[in-house]
Amino acid sequence: MNKNSELFFNKNEIEKTKEKYPTPFHIYDEKGIIENVKSLYKNFSWVQGFKNYFAIKACPNPYILKILKDQGCGADCSSLPELILAEKVGLRGEEIMFTSNNTQKEEYKKALELGAIINLDDITHIKFLEENAYLPSFICFRYNPGPLRKTNDGNVIGSPESAKYGLTKEQLFEAYDIVKNKGVKRFGLHTMVASNELNPNAFIETANMLLDLTLEIHKKLGIKIEFINLGGGIGIPYKPEQHPVDLKIVSERVKQIYKEKIQDKTTTPLKIFMENGRMITGPFGYLITTVIHEKHIYKEYIGVDANMANLMRPGMYGAYHHITVLGKENVPNEFKYDIVGSLCENNDKFAIDRMLPKIEIGDILAIHNTGAHGYAMGFNYNGKLRSAELLKKLDGNIKLIRRAETIKDYFETFNFEGSDYKNLA
Ligand SMILES: *Cc1c(COP(=O)(O)O)cnc(C)c1O
Repeated sequence: MNKNSELFFNKNEIEKTKEKYPTPFHIYDEKGIIENVKSLYKNFSWVQGFKNYFAIKACPNPYILKILKDQGCGADCSSLPELILAEKVGLRGEEIMFTSNNTQKEEYKKALELGAIINLDDITHIKFLEENAYLPSFICFRYNPGPLRKTNDGNVIGSPESAKYGLTKEQLFEAYDIVKNKGVKRFGLHTMVASNELNPNAFIETANMLLDLTLEIHKKLGIKIEFINLGGGIGIPYKPEQHPVDLKIVSERVKQIYKEKIQDKTTTPLKIFMENGRMITGPFGYLITTVIHEKHIYKEYIGVDANMANLMRPGMYGAYHHITVLGKENVPNEFKYDIVGSLCENNDKFAIDRMLPKIEIGDILAIHNTGAHGYAMGFNYNGKLRSAELLKKLDGNIKLIRRAETIKDYFETFNFEGSDYKNLA
């Protein structure tokens, strides 16, 4: 799905688009997103009621959410604006999972109003909910396995022991017991221990862990868990030599374990949910940017019109994002460049020592895999404005799904004498 050589657009198309919507912009592929979601659902079609709650933070655009909703996805929200986004695209009730942490009461109120599944991050939030709203009849808890989860299955989010999320195992049992005694009738179990993980074993392990826990909870407390939510975290191949997670393998192994463990009526029908963000949209977005400068000092620099405010991952994590010079796809990579933005921060570099074809001013670069945590992580530091987002629709037309910020937007939140900056175009 992420063949780094296969773009869903060509140079001519982008040049034409650029006349109307200047670079930089992110562009997403509706067809790719739909096919990808269909494949995820197909792989888990043996699960009764399988659902992916798209983690909105990956790509918080209502047009994208609508596409995903039409494919049967729900939304995983963790803030008030994310809840409102889900609401605006017509998601309701149990189509919304509210997986927050350090939550504010207004957020719980909105989640309750929408009938979302409330996923509590801590045992103290039972009381917090009661004091500030009410305890709904359906409650999920987020489990943090801490030292019980070995980290040798890959890139678990740091180590669970130092992650701020979730309840300890002991607290988990106590929490289910408390809410059961308070009249809660329906229960879910959630965890999220992986991030950008490419090893299928991580997800198989997680399912195994939650299935065991489901049985243990039933045995000790007589509680029937209605769903397990494996969280998100399925990685994508950012580097050309990497491969996507083989969902067929994950599905088949989880199915085996499920069949072995979940046999009797005390635990069935047990649904399986996920809340992937990155793997849903990540590979189907590109940041398109134009080369505006070249600079020859101790190294060779190529300056583009995008910067870290449009894509923070390389600067923040040293993350690799593949780059294609449009129209030079078949030219050998014989030149070594640092591809840089314009922030007054030396980590504002999309690539360091990257071998690419010879680049000239005016060339258009496509930075790959920006469909998740790309635009979404944008910011205004250094007076930089967020870019537009475009969508290549199924019919091939390119639609503006979010306009670029303007200087007027930048000044909009000030209120000081002379705030007539607002009159700027
Ligand atoms: C970020 C997040 C996700 C999605 O993670 P991806 O790596 O984008 O799949 C899912 N659930 C929770 C609770 C998250 O914080």
